[in-house]
Amino acid sequence: MKNINLVNKILKIIVGLLGLGIIYWVSRVNYLFFHATSEFFSITIAITIFIIIYNGRKYINNNYLLIIGMSYLFVGIFDFLHTLGFKGMHIFTDYNYYANQLWIAGRFFESSMLLLAVLSVRWKKIFSYRFLLTVMSLVTAAFLISIFPTDIFPECFVEGYGQTSFKLISEYVIIVVLGFTSYLVYRYKDLFGKDIFTTLEASLILTIFSELCFTFYNDNYGVLNMLGHMFKILSFYYIYHAVIVKVIREPYDTIFKELTEMKDRLGIENEVLHEEVNEDPLTGIYNHGYMMDRVEREIIRCKEKGGTFSLLFIDIDDFKGVNDRLGHKVGDQVIKEFAGILKEHCRHGDYVGRVGGDEFLMLLLDTNVDLAKGIAERVNDSIREYRYSGDEKITASVGVKEYSGEEWDMLIDLVDKQMYLAKRKGKNQISF
Ligand code: GH3
Ligand code: MG
Repeated sequence: MKNINLVNKILKIIVGLLGLGIIYWVSRVNYLFFHATSEFFSITIAITIFIIIYNGRKYINNNYLLIIGMSYLFVGIFDFLHTLGFKGMHIFTDYNYYANQLWIAGRFFESSMLLLAVLSVRWKKIFSYRFLLTVMSLVTAAFLISIFPTDIFPECFVEGYGQTSFKLISEYVIIVVLGFTSYLVYRYKDLFGKDIFTTLEASLILTIFSELCFTFYNDNYGVLNMLGHMFKILSFYYIYHAVIVKVIREPYDTIFKELTEMKDRLGIENEVLHEEVNEDPLTGIYNHGYMMDRVEREIIRCKEKGGTFSLLFIDIDDFKGVNDRLGHKVGDQVIKEFAGILKEHCRHGDYVGRVGGDEFLMLLLDTNVDLAKGIAERVNDSIREYRYSGDEKITASVGVKEYSGEEWDMLIDLVDKQMYLAKRKGKNQISF
């Protein structure tokens, strides 16, 4: 197990490094293409997070998931516009650095929503998703209005100069907010559970790394910009992972656990039903169906694990006469007491059942034919000693057969034949 896990881990690392290598290469060949693809990748993750949580909202009873879920829709929108606004995309032609403003707006929004999400984990009142969507729509609209039509949003990048101090201060503020959020996640780690704690922390730390890259870069096409985008993808992925665990994996596990427990509980009740279904109502010993099944299972067990067993097929001699002379009621009583005699000869693990009117089958575990013959004789002795209705006696004919590789129906046939042989030889005896 340990080796498989290690191989899996190494494989993941290799695939990851390969992926990073390809991304790096693409970024050197065509940065614009790299930027658009990596952003679309994070946008896809962001929208997926939203879709998963939106559709699971009925079953989500905590604020942090709802806030994360709803906010990533808008994070996706900010990032989409940021991608379109990237210099070189030639989509917004009136200004070259919308991308940098949209980036800051998006990160402000994302980090404050993450903070709110983590803060709200302890709040009792659960937000309605409609309320969250409305507030977030308004905030997003305000940002967008300040950037596009009104130009209120401060400049973030100046050609030939680099990042503006507004942009730098904003990045520091965002980093502080993320750092504080990360500290809160650590403080509330018991509330989140180990899995979520790790993934949330990973995501927050990667976002901080990403932001650091965007604080120190001075070229929209440089290596730091590229690294920043890579960290961003990873951080989104971790949030996505936390969401998958919380909204899909954990609920599935819970449902599965509950189903298994329910099955176990029903199993106990089934056992009771089982007894009723497998019992002969007159005598209380096993019935025909159960005994056939038992024989079949015992054969499977012997084939798998070795060992042997023997069958005794017992038929009361001239039983019709009992009914005829003393009546059916006495006949019934005799059958019941007869079953009791057979039961007394069962050791632990043996089975006895009534397989016909006055026919009985005994399954003797780990018993070869010699041992079985001895038991059959003792059974017959007890039957001879048995008295009913004053001083009435009965006898029985017993077929004995050890299992020797037959199928179950064949084995039953053979032991039945032995019983008939005993009858043919004059009854009140055993045959093997
Ligand atoms: P054999 O020695 O050849 O076995 O003769 P038998 O009279 O025992 O005949 P057989 O085994 O063929 O018939 C079994 C009889 O047992 C038939 C039926 O009258 C009687 N019997 C079957 N089931 C019941 C039952 O539930 N209660 C009673 N009282 N009698 C039953
Ligand atoms: Mg009989």
